[in-house]
Amino acid sequence: MASTTTLANDEFDRNMPRICGVCGDKASGFHFNAMTCEGCKGFFRRSMKRKASFTCPFNGSCTITKDNRRHCQACRLKRCVDIGMMKEFILTDEEVQRKKDLIQRRKDEEAQREAQRPRLSEEQSQVIATLVEAHHKTYDDSYSDFNRFRPPVREGPVTRSASRAASLHSLSDASSDSFSHSPENVWQGGSPDSDDDGSKLSMLPHLADLVSYSIQKVIGFAKMIPGFRELTAEDQIALLKSSAIEVIMLRSNQSFNLEDMSWSCGGPDFKYCVNDVTKAGHTLELLEPLVKFQVGLKKLNLHEEEHVLLMAICLLSPDRPGVQDHGRIETLQDHLSETLQAYIQLHHPGGRLVYAKMIQKLADLRSLNEEHSKQYRSLSFQPEHSMQLTPLVLEVFGSEVS
Ligand SMILES: [Zn+2]
Ligand SMILES: [Zn+2]
Repeated sequence: MASTTTLANDEFDRNMPRICGVCGDKASGFHFNAMTCEGCKGFFRRSMKRKASFTCPFNGSCTITKDNRRHCQACRLKRCVDIGMMKEFILTDEEVQRKKDLIQRRKDEEAQREAQRPRLSEEQSQVIATLVEAHHKTYDDSYSDFNRFRPPVREGPVTRSASRAASLHSLSDASSDSFSHSPENVWQGGSPDSDDDGSKLSMLPHLADLVSYSIQKVIGFAKMIPGFRELTAEDQIALLKSSAIEVIMLRSNQSFNLEDMSWSCGGPDFKYCVNDVTKAGHTLELLEPLVKFQVGLKKLNLHEEEHVLLMAICLLSPDRPGVQDHGRIETLQDHLSETLQAYIQLHHPGGRLVYAKMIQKLADLRSLNEEHSKQYRSLSFQPEHSMQLTPLVLEVFGSEVS
């Protein structure tokens, strides 16, 4: 039963003929310090335990073979010792038992670890599959629909806020090497000086259409989140109104480019840098933390599964203004969070901190949302600007002039 075979022997086995050093039969491995067959292994152990002493009936120099090995125990045992078999390698009964116990204990521990290992339930796997599919249905990698938006216009004076954009270079020096080779003109498109007060927002029509389109997609995604459609219409609207911009910021990370800090959605027309967004009326108060957020999120290297779960968790936040059925939404969000945590533990190697970092991103989104609302309000308060927005944008983000 007790074999002295150790793991290291596997290595020997590849290089050594597996032939019993005692009788030449097929060997089964190392036993008591020598390569032997099962027969000679047993013979050596039995002989040692019995402290047997044998005498050769012949002249003490029998050649031991597979067929005659039973004929002379004396010469067989002598051969055993000659090839290096040692009785010190034989375990006592007590040691054998201890070894068996140890093996059993390891097996038990392994089984326990296996049982404790987080795993995705059938339901959780289904939720992930549903969300990934929902995202694929509502996020078009080709960005071909962008051609239908009012075209982007980048000429014209740079707004005052954009001319301050150079200060964002401080951001690039701050953190990592991915910034260090950003081209100088990342933050600035046109000529920086202008006495224009920003009333001509050349990018506003295009970006308003882009945001409006994105809101539609976010609504489509939300409807496919398990449980969302079972909420009251009022709660669905409350959740969408308050989270739409956050989910848009999250999903836009897919097109965000660390090399040049832009959102690249196909051709050069649809490559958006900070300056483009300032030409739609937003200032660095929003754009600086937004780019920081995009960089941080990008660097998390989330799996698509994690990305879609994060968007769903963001959408199903019970603490949004106007929410009625707080408890129900919280239950839905808790299920999503548990699924995300289980997924990370199982599939994201070294992802011990990923969950915490993702939750921090949700907190960042809240302040981005707040700043966006502020800037949106002042923009939509000006009729010449609000008239460029779409009905859906006005409905979701609110209409000041009504
Ligand atoms: Zn043998
Ligand atoms: Zn003999």
